[in-house]
Amino acid sequence: MAAPPAGLLSINTATTRGRWGLAEAIEGCARHGIRGISPWRDLLHAMGVANAARAIRARGLTVTGLCRGGMFSARNARARKANIADNLRAIDEAHALEAQCLVLVVGGLAEGSKDIAGARAQVRDGIAAILPHAKAAGIPLAIEPLHPMYAADRACVNTLAQALDLCDALDRGRTGALGVAVDAYHVWWDPQLEAQIRRAGKRRLLAYHICDWLVPTTDLLLDRGMMGDGVIDLKRIRGWMMRAGYRGFHEVEIFSAKNWWQRDPDEVLAICKARYRRVT
Ligand code: ZN
Repeated sequence: MAAPPAGLLSINTATTRGRWGLAEAIEGCARHGIRGISPWRDLLHAMGVANAARAIRARGLTVTGLCRGGMFSARNARARKANIADNLRAIDEAHALEAQCLVLVVGGLAEGSKDIAGARAQVRDGIAAILPHAKAAGIPLAIEPLHPMYAADRACVNTLAQALDLCDALDRGRTGALGVAVDAYHVWWDPQLEAQIRRAGKRRLLAYHICDWLVPTTDLLLDRGMMGDGVIDLKRIRGWMMRAGYRGFHEVEIFSAKNWWQRDPDEVLAICKARYRRVT
């Protein structure tokens, strides 16, 4: 399979956050000829939304997603309302950055709860509550299913099928306002992955995140691998995405406290570029 187009590489700021804030990541992407960037909101707030928007525009970068909205489930109505308000702010920030989508990590169990079905209902209601604002702002919402090991504390939506069921329930007309972020790290193991990518189709495939699954993985959150260092068949998954009509960016998202965050981010970006061409 031919290498993916160089112009479609994007860097999620999780990859360089060990050493770089958002301003440095913007400059770094520009320096390395990388055309896409996906900021996390804490780094965005540290830089200031207006400043960031200006710098990103000046460098001609595409914001391939804003990370993240979501975290809908909570133990009481007041907390759920506060979460909704925060999501509305996230949509406005995504709009200011002209982001291609707002990524939703939907939230796990509410504090002290064992009711995962209840959490899933709260997630559905939360997305329904913010969807009109997202539509008005022209910001598609991308539900990111997370690996089931995060069901308790980060996301009770754990498969692409589950995420697409939510899309079908809340956006029956496939308007493009609601879709999914396919993160290879979270979904590579799913026997239904190919079929569900096909089911999603061009309208619902809003983002594609890449890294690798290391064996062994030593930390549930912060030990993701560089593409090519693990067991995910990234070329195969890209093939499925392309065949389903996806033509967007390929966003490298590597949380790696002990390895990649310790390195010079310029070296990390150079390796991302090389691996992107060779193994994805
Ligand atoms: Zn991701």
